Amino acid sequence: MFDSIRKWRQQRVLKGAAIPDALWSDACGRLPFLAIYTPEETGRLRDAVVLFLDAKAIVGARGHEVTPLQRVIIALQACVLVLELDLELYDDFENVIVYPGEFVPNWQWEDEAGVVHTNDGPLAGEAMPGGPVVLSWPDVAAGADWENMGMNLVIHEFAHKIDMRSGDANGCPPLPPSMPASIWKATIAAAYDDFCARVDSGEDTEIDPYAAESPAEFFAVLSEVFFADPLLLRDEYPAAYTQWTAFYRQDPAARVESLGRK
Ligand SMILES: [Zn+2]
Repeated sequence: MFDSIRKWRQQRVLKGAAIPDALWSDACGRLPFLAIYTPEETGRLRDAVVLFLDAKAIVGARGHEVTPLQRVIIALQACVLVLELDLELYDDFENVIVYPGEFVPNWQWEDEAGVVHTNDGPLAGEAMPGGPVVLSWPDVAAGADWENMGMNLVIHEFAHKIDMRSGDANGCPPLPPSMPASIWKATIAAAYDDFCARVDSGEDTEIDPYAAESPAEFFAVLSEVFFADPLLLRDEYPAAYTQWTAFYRQDPAARVESLGRK
């Protein structure tokens, strides 16, 4: 019943809203990792972007003006994560807030010892449980240049949002019944321990060493690599790559290979 109402609403939105072709091509052209998708998949991605933009307000803060192109670039990268999943994974929030640069969060938290922590310093992005995704636009823009920057902020923050759908951000997203949590956790723990040891030993890792911060950051950073540089993740952590493939229901490394490009 609710499913059919939802589908009916979605059809109405898709009929009433569209992204102009030139704007769509411009946004896709700035995100080279999208080249692996077939026309059918790209069509579904475009529908997902229309629905995402209908459901979310992408608003500027501290004087930042969000352009139509910026809206599509952000929505595209959020939607690529759920292309084979469900947009419902983003149902727990309505706003994406975009700053003109790094921002200092104004929250406080109390640790187990009762010590209250405030502003830990400027951030490029933040995903809050049940709350908005916050992004620094220059850091979003830098993500388009994976070769030089090795980061994708939008994928990172939306991976955190997905992770949070099964409780705290802990590196274990809401797994389907076909994926045993024990296998996910064991695989990720082995890869995480190995990565932390490499970072601790001073190795200059190709994967962003920030992934060693916590299992939650490991999931978010590896999700960036999974989409933006999938062969790197498959080469370095093949067992984790297999889990990511099963979770996101995509195999971007195989696509990159079949297209004969890195
Ligand atoms: Zn993070």
